[in-house]
Amino acid sequence: MKHGVIVEMGPDLLKAPGEEVLDAAGRYIAPGGIDAHTHLDMPCGDITTADGFRCGSLAAIAGGTTTVLEYAECAEGETLQQGLANWHRKAVGKSFCDYGFHMTVSAWTEDTPAQMAAAAAAGVTSFKTYTAYQKDIGVDDYALFRIMREAARLGALVCVHCENDGLLRALSEDLEARKGEVSAHPDSRPNLVEAEAVSRAADIGMLAGSAVYIVHISTKEGAEAVRRARDRGQTIFGETCPHYLLLDRSRYDLPGFEGAKYVMSPPLRTPEDQHALWEALRNGGLQTVSTDHCAFRFADQKTLGREDFRKIPNGIPSVEHRMELLYTYGPAQGMTLPQIAAVTAWNPARIFGLSHRKGQIAPGYDADLVLLDPDAPHVLSAAAQMQAVDYTPYEGMQVRAKVETVLLRGQVLMENGRLTAETPMGQYLIREPFHQETREE
Ligand SMILES: [Zn+2]
Repeated sequence: MKHGVIVEMGPDLLKAPGEEVLDAAGRYIAPGGIDAHTHLDMPCGDITTADGFRCGSLAAIAGGTTTVLEYAECAEGETLQQGLANWHRKAVGKSFCDYGFHMTVSAWTEDTPAQMAAAAAAGVTSFKTYTAYQKDIGVDDYALFRIMREAARLGALVCVHCENDGLLRALSEDLEARKGEVSAHPDSRPNLVEAEAVSRAADIGMLAGSAVYIVHISTKEGAEAVRRARDRGQTIFGETCPHYLLLDRSRYDLPGFEGAKYVMSPPLRTPEDQHALWEALRNGGLQTVSTDHCAFRFADQKTLGREDFRKIPNGIPSVEHRMELLYTYGPAQGMTLPQIAAVTAWNPARIFGLSHRKGQIAPGYDADLVLLDPDAPHVLSAAAQMQAVDYTPYEGMQVRAKVETVLLRGQVLMENGRLTAETPMGQYLIREPFHQETREE
């Protein structure tokens, strides 16, 4: 490799003077992970996520993820440009991994098209919308259609958080008597609350002629809705997360307030849903596995919802564990290694305008490489993690694959399990417009 880019591949390459050799015998060499869904340094009411770019990106590197696509958003009254500038400030000089931004659009105003165009020109070629939380950052069908049509015009993609707002508000109200129970959380948003919103977002995307990316699909029915839309020829992609694949809703029945560690939206589901999500990853019905990393401390942040499940800050940490979990449990679930590399790196690269330099091990690509030992059983625990949060939802879980060595653009940032990164060298990635032919692969 030269200047951080892979130059040549093959057996018996000659070692030039001054070049370093890494021995990868018995190891998987994977493309550096691209986590297409993180929330670092994100305000939530009066609190902020437990880890910012410094700790969060170090955790990413420690876990074999060399690029994150972070959701930037606006504070009330800010333009997209102000929100974006704010997120640049959070990341610049602090990120150890490369990063790009999606931008949340929470309203449609006269000025929105110009703001979206400026964001796209700055390399933000995906916009995020919420169908839930309409009293706050969510958008109605009218605004979603307008945003999608504008995105299509700009060569951008629209990422949608799919939960039906009216349904979940009504169901949450009905759970008033159980508000002190964590287990009321999943009951406030049953499977169909997600699936209805996925179908609707797909339909609106179809009418708007926009490429659509459904974030964090948790249900069998949600995955089926994406599949139906793909089968009718629509350009739509589905993402799921390690927690929906590996954890189930029995966690909400843990004693005391313990279940709050697993409160995120959408919530954990049933083993049947997990089975359907793995199946969709195997057969191409879903395209990516991202984390939706959004860490809140159990000791003093999750507790804000001790009296009322609706006030538990939503989100879990996992940017550090995605690759080891996928390279451990993926093969056990019948995924091939190229499929795992696709859902953790190549698919996010091609969907989000990075396929010219990220997501593949090939000449001309950034030398973002991960050496994993496929047979190094160890147990995940908060005590051993880099994530700046006091728990992990995967506490005590056995994983076999271990991230050993990580290179970002040719620089060794972790070697044999020891972080060697000293100064943050993460670069902001200007992403290309969405290519329509991406769908065909
Ligand atoms: Zn998210």
